[in-house]
Amino acid sequence: MIKSFSLVVALFFSVSFFAQNLQSPSEFLGYDLGTKFSRHHQVVDYFKHIKTQNPQQVKLDFYGLTNERRPLMLAIISSEENMKNLETIRENNLKNAGILEGTPSANNIAIVWLSYNVHGNEASSTEAAMNTIYKLLTEKKEYLKNTIVIIDPCINPDGRDRYVNWYNETASVPYDIDQQASEHSEPWPGGRPNHYLFDLNRDWAWATQVESASRLKVYNKWMPHIHVDFHEQGINEPYYFAPAAEPFHEIISDWQRNFQTQIGKNHAKYFDAEGWLYFTRERFDLLYPSYGDTYPTYMGAIGMTYEQGGHGRAGLGILNDESDVLTLVDRLTHHTVSGLSTVEISSRNAEKLNTEFAKYFNNSNLKYKSYVLKGNADKIQSLTTLLDKHEIKYGFAQGGKVSGYDYASSKQGQMNTSSKDLVVSTNQPKGKMVKVLFEPQTKLSDSLTYDITAWSVPYAYGLDAVASKTLIKTDNTIFKEIPNPLKNSGSTGYVLEWRSMKDAQFLADLLNGGIKVRFTEKPFTTQGKTYDRGSLIIVRGDNKTVNDFDDRFIAIAFRHNRLPEAITSGFSTSGPDFGSPDIKLVNPPKIAILSGDYTSSLSYGEIWHFFEQQLHYPLTSIKTDDLSGTNLSKYNVLIMPNGYYGGLLNEKLMDKLKTWIRSGGKVIAIDGALNSFVDKDGFGLKRNQPQDSSKNKEAGKLIKYADRERYYTKDLISGAIFKTDVDNTHPMAFGYDDTYFTLKRGSSSYSLLDGGYNVAYLGKNPKNVSGYAGQEALKKLDNSLIFGEQRMGSGSVIYLVDNVMFRSFWENGKLFFVNSIFFVNNNLVEL
Ligand SMILES: [Zn+2]
Repeated sequence: MIKSFSLVVALFFSVSFFAQNLQSPSEFLGYDLGTKFSRHHQVVDYFKHIKTQNPQQVKLDFYGLTNERRPLMLAIISSEENMKNLETIRENNLKNAGILEGTPSANNIAIVWLSYNVHGNEASSTEAAMNTIYKLLTEKKEYLKNTIVIIDPCINPDGRDRYVNWYNETASVPYDIDQQASEHSEPWPGGRPNHYLFDLNRDWAWATQVESASRLKVYNKWMPHIHVDFHEQGINEPYYFAPAAEPFHEIISDWQRNFQTQIGKNHAKYFDAEGWLYFTRERFDLLYPSYGDTYPTYMGAIGMTYEQGGHGRAGLGILNDESDVLTLVDRLTHHTVSGLSTVEISSRNAEKLNTEFAKYFNNSNLKYKSYVLKGNADKIQSLTTLLDKHEIKYGFAQGGKVSGYDYASSKQGQMNTSSKDLVVSTNQPKGKMVKVLFEPQTKLSDSLTYDITAWSVPYAYGLDAVASKTLIKTDNTIFKEIPNPLKNSGSTGYVLEWRSMKDAQFLADLLNGGIKVRFTEKPFTTQGKTYDRGSLIIVRGDNKTVNDFDDRFIAIAFRHNRLPEAITSGFSTSGPDFGSPDIKLVNPPKIAILSGDYTSSLSYGEIWHFFEQQLHYPLTSIKTDDLSGTNLSKYNVLIMPNGYYGGLLNEKLMDKLKTWIRSGGKVIAIDGALNSFVDKDGFGLKRNQPQDSSKNKEAGKLIKYADRERYYTKDLISGAIFKTDVDNTHPMAFGYDDTYFTLKRGSSSYSLLDGGYNVAYLGKNPKNVSGYAGQEALKKLDNSLIFGEQRMGSGSVIYLVDNVMFRSFWENGKLFFVNSIFFVNNNLVEL
């Protein structure tokens, strides 16, 4: 794999005759590229150097800051002449797509966007980015005559520096190629994710992270024709490039497929010449829209993933299982070659890229013309925030009736519309992305996929929806402004309904501000209006010690756009009065979460991000290593993220946990954390066994070796949506209707709780409403738990079988989590 690499190195690293003052990466950094990992600031400095030396050919765009305040940066490079017309070329491209009004003048400039190091510990690619920009400005200048190359040298600077700093602290000198050496084993959480431990290569469509949201703004300004996301894979797998694997989303055009093959063949030419191994058309499919290959593809580009063998394990050099020493120099060299080859083939096909790009944006053949969504105004608004990130247009319905596919019933239905209902139509340039995000079911050409197979936005946002085959007319009115909340110093207090995450943020802010809040466990009617379970009641008498209570309360309500009602008497027309035991004080909980070994860093990060950036409520992180010495009595709630706690919870720790729960503690266990309690003494959680397992019947059937992967798809649920029944009289489900659509990932299944509360569950013969679920996996889900609560002494264990925080995009699940924290068994026991 690296036999002839000295020749390549000579070719790649000894080029200095072009440069006057322009330095190669090695000259600038003071070490041969690939012999050390460069820290992010050094990379930024090198790009600044490039810009200073070539101001006519290079533009830097600092497009944001990471959570740890590292700069996010793009270099835009081309010929001097193109750079003079850069704005015209950019606008022409948007006109070509119909995004900008006006007729494009002849456009034959290709726009290629190269994104590096989205996974921080796949660290060869940022080194390759420096090499690639240098080569383009020196040896490969001719490509730039008709090509704009946009280089993002590091999508994930926080993750990269986490990896690089750890490696530099750990590695031997000279580096140790022994796979067992500590420099090949990253500690938790590793450098792959960003600051909040999100996988940025699962975040393009949801843009929950600052890196993604900032990037989409510049991406939408450019809308490139080609996008490459540079990655690394296991040390024994040489290199992967396009064409991608099935399943392909049906929206992908023949041209997009074909050009992937042309690109792959161009790379193969270079790789074959060097004797470098590679594979194509396997493993990396094009379906889930949140990747650095699929997202650009659905936005009209040729979106691709390139994977070099290496990853966080490889360091500066490692002996792989094929007895080759894989070095950082090899890795960055391969990524440089594939990057340059991509620019070359794009440059050669610039005109065709432009005409085909324009064709992609013709959306006249899409089956559904409009998606109409109805529901809670906060949820609608939260969805429009997502659409704004993608610059997808929307409007609001006029009065009338819409018929089409009804998401709630999974069949044809009708909806009466009003000006509050959101309409998102496919007759707009980004109509194909609208289809991908909104369609009720994604067509699967193959059930073997790398990721979830369902994400339909109406289910994720908890909105009723109809997909219509006719175009629905809209008024483009923006949201009606919510009137300012009014203070009423003579009132007994204020009441607000509980329906959305915005209400939850309001509650958190009140509690942080020292204001006492109650919630009702039963509906009540007062002043002619009925308030459902979960409604918040802020009683003046509870807040006597709060200075300027009304002003402070109204200021918080204003900040959150809430419109609480002033109530003049605590005597209700029907239902409980304000002093009733059914109207309970929200005891502001002290919350801890387990982090570190045994926890999934992704799940931990989702909750960390949720508390800090969404709910804005304090959270204490406790390392699993410290749990045995932790004084749990300081906390009311302990969150166990998805994880693998088998090696952690020995008998002693389990006893400690149970004692704490019995005295009033509340555990919230998510996904894999449930394994710690299943079939354990004192816990009511049991695995669900299918009544009639047809596995035995099939046991005699011979399975061919070649069919083994496909055979096991019958046991698989690769991220599918199910309709669950909800007991919305339980505090955990306050604010919900009596059904809920859950995203189920994986086929773990638990029986309904005997002696506990089954808050959301699947009944007999559950069917997936969207996404893939194997027939055997479905049988196991018969009468199974989704969310539940079990009491133990004064405390509780809350089971979240499905992770409502997964990638932070299933908006409608988040209130179950908030309810678990603030409402469920929120007793006043002093721990
Ligand atoms: Zn990767």
